Amino acid sequence: MTKTWDVVVIGGGMLGLSTSYHLAKMGAKTLLLQAGPIGSGTSAANAGRAQVSEGHLDPLNIRIIREGLARFETLEEELGTTFEWRRNGYLCLIKTEQLWRQWEERSKVLTEGGIPTQVIDLKQLQELEPHLNPAGLLGAAYTLEGLLNPFRFCWAYATAARRYGTEFLPYTPATSFKLDGKRIRAVCSNSHIFQAERFAVMCGAWTPVVTRMAGVETPIRHTHAEAFILEPTRQVIRNTIGLADFYEIIHGKPKAVAIGIGPQSHDTLLVTESVIQTGELHTRNSAWGVSNIAFELLKIYPALGGVRVIRAWGAPTSFTPDEEPLIGWIPEPENLFVASSMVETITAVPLISEWMGKMILEYEPPVSLQRFSPSRFASKMLPMENESR
Ligand SMILES: Cc1cc2nc3c(=O)[nH]c(=O)nc-3n(C[C@H](O)[C@H](O)[C@H](O)COP(=O)(O)OP(=O)(O)OC[C@H]3O[C@@H](n4cnc5c(N)ncnc54)[C@H](O)[C@@H]3O)c2cc1C
Repeated sequence: MTKTWDVVVIGGGMLGLSTSYHLAKMGAKTLLLQAGPIGSGTSAANAGRAQVSEGHLDPLNIRIIREGLARFETLEEELGTTFEWRRNGYLCLIKTEQLWRQWEERSKVLTEGGIPTQVIDLKQLQELEPHLNPAGLLGAAYTLEGLLNPFRFCWAYATAARRYGTEFLPYTPATSFKLDGKRIRAVCSNSHIFQAERFAVMCGAWTPVVTRMAGVETPIRHTHAEAFILEPTRQVIRNTIGLADFYEIIHGKPKAVAIGIGPQSHDTLLVTESVIQTGELHTRNSAWGVSNIAFELLKIYPALGGVRVIRAWGAPTSFTPDEEPLIGWIPEPENLFVASSMVETITAVPLISEWMGKMILEYEPPVSLQRFSPSRFASKMLPMENESR
């Protein structure tokens, strides 16, 4: 235990990597511990969409989305690595009059907030997507969002963070903490002990497992989502496709399928997702998941019949009881910061990671993120007795 860091970040997904970059850039001596390979958690499992239209509509969230998206225009240059950033249309398919009215309302608020969104009828939808089966649809909401390669996005932040001096230890899971009164003194991994002033847990759906090691129960839950990639096809789909009733379909069900389709580079299509409620945290996929995504996909795009699945996977998606992210200091231990469960993670990352870096180093971020503070769940986060304390 000869070396001491300013900050040890635990979790090398999009949030941990991007925050490490900003911490190191601001001059903090930063160490990142990651259980497996860099970016191999849920950040390796997603559709790479910089979503803009499906999150909460309050001014703070709209600001994060609008300004986060704007940062992407220069982010590849800033990080010094390409991650295949491009702007792409998003069509959110509408099936009922009620959803139509809801999306007309949403479109108004989004557009006024600087995120142009438009509800289009079936004729306009078919012009944009001629291979889409229109049965049961009234139209769609259209927005211009972003697409990127999530693996390269993680690597871009990892490479830039390393350039500023962040030390990375992949395959090094945090296994326990050493506490000294109300503060954490060190984090342990197998036979190593890493001492620091501050500790940041950014472990996505695994966050409660890690905070529990410090005696804190964080109220983060997860569902298990599966997805797959199709072999290259001729241009069947141009825009990213999703469903206006995505959350209604998946909420509260033991198993459900809600289709999302994203055109990727090399003419492949990424198709999400089947959702299973489970207490287990894992990255496997199932025969049920793959076959049911395929079944629902063919209802929307019969033209994809016969196209083969070339890779499938699963990953946990985390959320909090109020579906807002958890960002901030834990009441106790007082030097433990957590960040997890963003709603539109990719879009928010460039902005929120900079703000989180500032918060960890105790500078004021430009906007208060107090609303996302873990203290809102203080009664559910009482320090618990734990062997590793
Ligand atoms: C099918 C699917 C599609 C999605 N599509 C999108 C999308 O298009 N756009 C979008 O914005 N979001 C999408 N998401 C959500 C998005 O992927 C997540 O919000 C995001 O990856 C979370 O990043 P993170 O850094 O918080 O967590 P993770 O990426 O999960 O990173 C946490 C890391 O912590 C590590 N870890 C765990 N335990 C320990 C330990 N003890 N010690 C050290 N490290 C540990 C894990 O190995 C992991 O690498 C999708 C999710 C799924 C499942």
